Amino acid sequence: MDISKVREDYEAVIGLEVHAQMLTKSKAYSNDINEYGSRPNTNISAISLGHPGTLPRMNKKTIEYAIKLGLALNCEIAEYQHFARKNYFYPDLPKGYQITQDKTPICTNGHIDLKMKDGVKHIGITRIHMEEDSGKSIHDVDVYDSLVDLNRAGTPLLEIVTEPDMCSGDEAYAYLTEIRQLVRYLEICDGNMEEGSLRCDANVSVRKKGASEFGTKVEVKNMNSIRNVQRAINFEIDRQIEMVEKGEEIAQETRSFDAVNMRTISMRTKEAANDYRYFPEPDLQPLHVSKEQVNAVKTDMPVLPNALYEKYTKELNLSDYDASNLIASKPMALYFEELIKHTSNYKGAANWMSGEVRSYLNQQGKTIEEFPIQPERLAALIAIIDEGLVSNSVASQKIFPVMLEDNNKAPKAIAEEGNLIQDTDEDSIVSVIEEVIKQHPGEVERYKGGEKQLVGFFMGQVMKASGGKADPKAANKLIRQKLEE
Ligand code: ADP
Ligand code: MG
Repeated sequence: MDISKVREDYEAVIGLEVHAQMLTKSKAYSNDINEYGSRPNTNISAISLGHPGTLPRMNKKTIEYAIKLGLALNCEIAEYQHFARKNYFYPDLPKGYQITQDKTPICTNGHIDLKMKDGVKHIGITRIHMEEDSGKSIHDVDVYDSLVDLNRAGTPLLEIVTEPDMCSGDEAYAYLTEIRQLVRYLEICDGNMEEGSLRCDANVSVRKKGASEFGTKVEVKNMNSIRNVQRAINFEIDRQIEMVEKGEEIAQETRSFDAVNMRTISMRTKEAANDYRYFPEPDLQPLHVSKEQVNAVKTDMPVLPNALYEKYTKELNLSDYDASNLIASKPMALYFEELIKHTSNYKGAANWMSGEVRSYLNQQGKTIEEFPIQPERLAALIAIIDEGLVSNSVASQKIFPVMLEDNNKAPKAIAEEGNLIQDTDEDSIVSVIEEVIKQHPGEVERYKGGEKQLVGFFMGQVMKASGGKADPKAANKLIRQKLEE
């Protein structure tokens, strides 16, 4: 069925549930090590194995992290909360229940603004709550048996639930990109979707445009990249429209994304709502989060990407492109923050970051933390360009490589030692130009005959004859003057 003709008649409704594993040293309710990639079943204890008689104990760091994220997402922070047991049976859930927050999530009523091509899209955050991860069942390692690794059991999670405010795969893509950037800036989660430390379930439904009721939603799981979430949603929207067009009923179900065939397949249908028999967790005290505690987190908040974006576009007058590039990674942004303490040529600084610095890092497979040139030194290089001592190309081709080798040398010293200081003295540039003109009488004739583009040829010859040291601006002006004489 070709649905391209009817797609316009429908709108999609999407709400996302994101699980973020917190970067705490120990687990949520025990002091087992919280670490990805350890040998299976080594980061465990009687508590995370749920042995009878053991008691959970709250990891305070998780509360601080939840408040941080809540504040960054403009949420209200609940003062009084308690934990709940969510009961279900699964081989990788040794306790037979998950400790979570049901009725009293720590954060509610937040929002995030997405910068989309056609304007700002406001997405409501329904709630953020603290809970623990389950272990992991592994079905593809042993031919005969399923294996269970309980290292992940008890890992602290924050679950972030949005309102059904998104209406395309693109918006979900933008939302997840922002959330990942945010948790990385807050340093509460590494945001790695491939390793599963950031996971997303997408709830998708469709309805005819103008309909007042939502359609039946389908929950899609198992996307291991932001791109795949977008793909899964796009597939799901089309699949549902096609079903509705055929007059078929959409079942409320959970589907899994199949990345090989780029489609979703049914995992289980939810005929009735799951009955998890939630009840208050009797082994953990109710939680009181004081105003002072929230304020302490507030004063300690690290710089956030949105604030940097505002600063770069409004105060430093950088383009949206430059600003977005600079804030994409926190370490890059922090380097830039240092850089602009030492230069007021913000555009120049941004160009160096997205040009030479980035290509060096890409070529070397290094991160900015491993970049050998101190921000102060890079600023000094920008300064000698701005002072007209060296041209941009001499700076990037001759001086920058030396700085990468020896970060103790000041760029000006490198320029002087390498005899690279630009010649701005008009008399000496003129004498080079006169020499060049003498050597190319044919080109001079053609120039005078109207081939004005030959100015480029003369520029090249003059730069060559001066060993790249003639100030290009002055040279260009003087060449024209001499040729017109
Ligand atoms: P459940 O109890 O099944 O998890 P919730 O009401 O808690 O359902 O919603 C879970 C997520 O699904 C939220 O992100 C919410 O915005 C989204 N959602 C709810 N109804 C719909 C719908 N009809 N279509 C798409 N998403 C929906
Ligand atoms: Mg759900």
